[in-house]
Amino acid sequence: MEEYLAELNDAQRAPVLQKDGPMIVIAGAGSGKTRVLTYRIAYLMHQGVDSFNILSLTFTNKAAREMKKRIASIVGPSEAKNLWMGTFHSIFAKILRFEADKLGYPSNFTIYDTQDSQRLIASIIKEMGLDKDIYKYKQVYSRISSYKNSLITVKAYFQNAELVEADAMAKRPRMGEIYQNYVERCFKAGAMDFDDLLLKTNELLNRFPDVLAKYQNRFRYILVDEYQDTNHSQYLIVRALSDKFQNICVVGDDAQSIYAFRGANINNILNFQRDYDDVQQYRLEQNYRSTKNIVEAANSIIDKNKTKLDKVVWTANDPGPKIIVNRLLTDGDEGRFVASSIFENQMQHQLPNGDFAVLYRTNAQSRAIEDALRKRDIKYRIYGGLSFYQRKEIKDVLAYLRLIINPKDEEALKRVINYPARGIGATTVDKLIVAANHYDRSIFEVIENLDRINLKINSGTKTRLQNFMTMIKSFQVTNQTSDAFVLAEMVAKKTGLLQELKKDGTPEGIARIENIEELLNGIRDFVEGQKELADETGSLAEFLEDVALATDLDQDTGDDDRVALMTIHLAKGLEFPHVYIVGMEEDLFPSGMSMNTRSELEEERRLFYVALTRAEKQAYLTYTQSRYRWGKLVDAEPSRFIEEIDDQYLEYLTPVEGYRYKPLIDSDIFGEVDKSKLRLKKPVSGSPPLAHKPNEEQLRKLRKLRPTSDPVSNDTKTNLLDNNLIPGTAVEHMRFGRGKILKIEGVGQDKKAEIHFEKGGIKKLLLRFAKLKVL
Ligand code: ATP
Ligand code: MG
Repeated sequence: MEEYLAELNDAQRAPVLQKDGPMIVIAGAGSGKTRVLTYRIAYLMHQGVDSFNILSLTFTNKAAREMKKRIASIVGPSEAKNLWMGTFHSIFAKILRFEADKLGYPSNFTIYDTQDSQRLIASIIKEMGLDKDIYKYKQVYSRISSYKNSLITVKAYFQNAELVEADAMAKRPRMGEIYQNYVERCFKAGAMDFDDLLLKTNELLNRFPDVLAKYQNRFRYILVDEYQDTNHSQYLIVRALSDKFQNICVVGDDAQSIYAFRGANINNILNFQRDYDDVQQYRLEQNYRSTKNIVEAANSIIDKNKTKLDKVVWTANDPGPKIIVNRLLTDGDEGRFVASSIFENQMQHQLPNGDFAVLYRTNAQSRAIEDALRKRDIKYRIYGGLSFYQRKEIKDVLAYLRLIINPKDEEALKRVINYPARGIGATTVDKLIVAANHYDRSIFEVIENLDRINLKINSGTKTRLQNFMTMIKSFQVTNQTSDAFVLAEMVAKKTGLLQELKKDGTPEGIARIENIEELLNGIRDFVEGQKELADETGSLAEFLEDVALATDLDQDTGDDDRVALMTIHLAKGLEFPHVYIVGMEEDLFPSGMSMNTRSELEEERRLFYVALTRAEKQAYLTYTQSRYRWGKLVDAEPSRFIEEIDDQYLEYLTPVEGYRYKPLIDSDIFGEVDKSKLRLKKPVSGSPPLAHKPNEEQLRKLRKLRPTSDPVSNDTKTNLLDNNLIPGTAVEHMRFGRGKILKIEGVGQDKKAEIHFEKGGIKKLLLRFAKLKVL
């Protein structure tokens, strides 16, 4: 049993062995913070603490599952089963279900995701007759979100002259009213948004001392990972729950605080000592994750930040290869470089896809990488884009399911009341909303009472509304006796959703049907899995809660081997042998929107620190010379963060002139790489040598360098070659004028066309170069 304690170093063992009292572990990346939490839980249980009394809060549910698995392997699966482990949102959603009635919510309350919330806000802005260019619904949403996370309720908002004034100054004097309407509408719909899960938990613990006492007694030992990124609302919950026993262990790294923009408050870590008595502080200094080069390069970056706690991070690992820096022409080239490099690594070292991650600052950057990976048949998964559960067809099915569980759910109802089309138009829905507001009832209740109120709708519409209601009610009856899978299948068929997509017949339509099938498979798995657990039944309500709180990382079952693509924000806490950080350019990373103040820039720098420290063996930094931003090709400059890394940790690849990645492509074909070509010292004509990090002057010259342009743009070239040109096709040539293709011969790059030009007679042109336009 104690054997596993030997898997920790002395510094890690200390916080594991200290059973009681408040403690904080502050340490750099990869030093074993998460490992300490895991082993601490196992050891608590070993000392006789009931798993029922331990609460552990993680950054993702995936992290929680992994910890649980590790703990189960130490203490045994049945012991680990009762552990409360998960994200703040998932844990407190569960608690709120038990206690919902105290706050006036039904226990089957719906959880609105960001999209639901934003739609509702957009509709409120419209109903209030406000200018949607001034009241941008996304901005309004994030304002409201930040109020909630600072525990500023509607009432508190109106009492806070400063806030009211600030919104008025921002030309949004009716912000408070929108906030109020939004809160009321959510409440009436029996819905909580993500922020409510924390806000309402706080309300619950504040208003009901007996409830607080119950959970304080229950969660005698509390552990929090990534404490640096907790917001005020989360902080207060932890504080309240741990107040009685003060057995609280938090771990974090101030250098990895990257969610300030969402209200994370670094002071939570800085003030921990002040909040509890006799806080034990632990420091871990040895990094086990990364090579010496990576650890030291990361240290050299974070050193540039002024606001930070003093910390040492060192490693006994090998120096490893230097960090590879590569400059590319365009984002397309960048994608091709990443794909080639992954391919090359795999061929040379027999590595699985899962050993690679591509990290970027913004989601939009994934497209070029995806294209290149697809061309090479390298499987990948994107995290944090549009997740499976946010796809339209999936949300449609889920909306029906949500409505069955909670017919007051306004967003769900609006989504499907006329989808598939059943002749209930937008005007009718607007009338229903007005009536619902007037009678202070839900839309569904209005439909139930159509006979008793005068809505000025024709009898045909009325019948259609009532049919819709009857259908939902019949599903509710089925829900009493069937599991979630049976019901979901019935919904997909009886509502006409599947038929609608079949009618569509396009490839997209077919893909949508497949997605719905995938959803049904998922529900079946869920039902079977839940039925095995004693305290769960596989009900629809349980499934919906899981879905509402699922993040993309959670869907990663780890079964299939894929390259991971994600934003740096999402990569926190994870590790990969090979990490590509792309788009290392000024205005992109650091983001152009964060260069106004030092603190914003420092947050970007921490983000870079997080990115680099995900790498175990090898890190790559790439930047381009020009990039499409907001639809325009703009000049890009290398990120200042590259320049901030000490020279000795970097190796610059100098691209070969012309088709620069030829060596990599050759190697793909022949299965070996000529390294001398890869690290070619010969500069691109006119550019300074780049064997070493360029100095200021060289950089300036480099930035001026533009690609030598081909007589024909790349686009035309590929278009022509990809085009299915056949004899008879009418074309136009810049010099020879109009003509008709007589014959096509050759393949690939050698493809030629024999063309009869009206004025110039018959000519043979190499399509690769031909300045041709297809008419
Ligand atoms: P981050 O700040 O990125 O969240 P962390 O401090 O939580 O990092 P862990 O993820 O716990 O660090 O550990 C980093 C890696 O080092 C993991 O692969 C972990 O298994 C390994 N590791 C940690 N401590 C030890 C140890 N004492 N012996 C061997 N491996 C260790
Ligand atoms: Mg960690």
